[in-house]
Amino acid sequence: MSDLRVRFAPSPTGYLHIGGARTALFNYLLARKEGGTFVLRIEDTDVARSTQESTDAILQAMDWLGLSYDEGPYYQSQRSELYQEKIDQLLEEGKAYRCYCTAEELEEKRNKAQAEGRKPKYDGTCRDRADQPIDQPHVVRFRSPDSGETAFDDKIKGRISFDNDELDDLIIRRTDGTPTYNFVVVIDDATMGINLVVRGDDHVNNTPRQIPMYEALGFPVPEFAHVPMILGADKSRLSKRHGATSVMAYRDLGYLPEAMVNYLVRLGWSYGDEEIFSMDELIEKFSLDNVGRSAGVFNPEKLLWLNAHYIKNGDIDRITGLVAGHLAEMGVKTENGPDMVAVVRSLLERAQTLVELAEGARFYFADTIEYEEKAQNKFLTADKKEPLEAVIKHLEAMAECTEESVEQAFAAMMEATGLKFGQFGPAVRVALTGTTSSPSNYEMIAILGIEESCKRIRAAIEVLK
Ligand code: GLU
Repeated sequence: MSDLRVRFAPSPTGYLHIGGARTALFNYLLARKEGGTFVLRIEDTDVARSTQESTDAILQAMDWLGLSYDEGPYYQSQRSELYQEKIDQLLEEGKAYRCYCTAEELEEKRNKAQAEGRKPKYDGTCRDRADQPIDQPHVVRFRSPDSGETAFDDKIKGRISFDNDELDDLIIRRTDGTPTYNFVVVIDDATMGINLVVRGDDHVNNTPRQIPMYEALGFPVPEFAHVPMILGADKSRLSKRHGATSVMAYRDLGYLPEAMVNYLVRLGWSYGDEEIFSMDELIEKFSLDNVGRSAGVFNPEKLLWLNAHYIKNGDIDRITGLVAGHLAEMGVKTENGPDMVAVVRSLLERAQTLVELAEGARFYFADTIEYEEKAQNKFLTADKKEPLEAVIKHLEAMAECTEESVEQAFAAMMEATGLKFGQFGPAVRVALTGTTSSPSNYEMIAILGIEESCKRIRAAIEVLK
């Protein structure tokens, strides 16, 4: 066990997106690698935008990815008392003060500063105000250091420093009494004993605002690692324009969680030129040292490639179960159909997603085959009657139905009749599937069985023209 304590702190204002999932994954891997603790905290202070539905969606997505946490979920909404206590402490110690400036006054000051070419920063009117009546509307501001600099050694980006005179006296409690974001994050991370904060670099500007608060409260300052953003192929920030950004949307599209995990980790982290990593390998090999400083570019093709890899190499029973789930969602009845494992095995090589696999499996379970027009016109022609009848005859004569026996039956038939494969093979394929692309005829017939195969070929003979 190490004393490393990391956390993932999503705001439940929507689903878990690709970027958030990667942050969660990095934290998870660090904790598991070091034998540390992974804390989950739901940042639901923004009551108007936070929903239980989003929280559930985030938990579900983490579960799907296999990112188990050791503590939490903690909810900020249940910690208000602690926040108020800490605000009171800062007020008492003179490290925070009540500010009575009205929104209009602040607006005026901002405009004036802008007009004079100064940074629009709070001018400190109430900083040293002697009377601080608590019954008049006010906010509480944190007294930021006004000279010197705040610096930290980011474990990804290197040293980052800010001039303290750039820092505003941040509002830490609003007029309505609610604490603000940067403040509660500090209280939470400090009281939860987080000693390494790994988060998206959209938060990098918050860090110099947060560090003085740790110091003012006498908390140790954690280490920080800000992970570069994820961009779309056009180098703009990843958004829906680039495809699905919700992790769970990928499950619905037929992706495996291990493909997603493998894909996410490589968005920013590398290990030589290796591409395929199981979770166990990642736990062993992951380190912030190999996380790049530049943004990762989302590449759907690569995700697809990884998915195909994991589908081909996955445990066949598990893949079959997942495909069965997708077939059920598509409304395909499979109870009376052929053996599902055999069906899935016959399609593994060609499919890149489970949904594609399920689509490809439909024909196995169809009561009647619908022929693609082009396939029917090209291959179900009147001259196929005799060859297809010969196929039925030879199939029905088989003692058992295996790929080998079908192959032998076709060979014997060609021998006896002088037929060439091209005179019946494609027609059989269209008869069995309705299309021209499918597993081999031998394999399909072995899976469908003699009776069902012959039934389909007979039905095709009926429509020859
Ligand atoms: N709740 C923040 C977010 O979802 C994360 C804050 C943090 O990691 O410090 O962006």
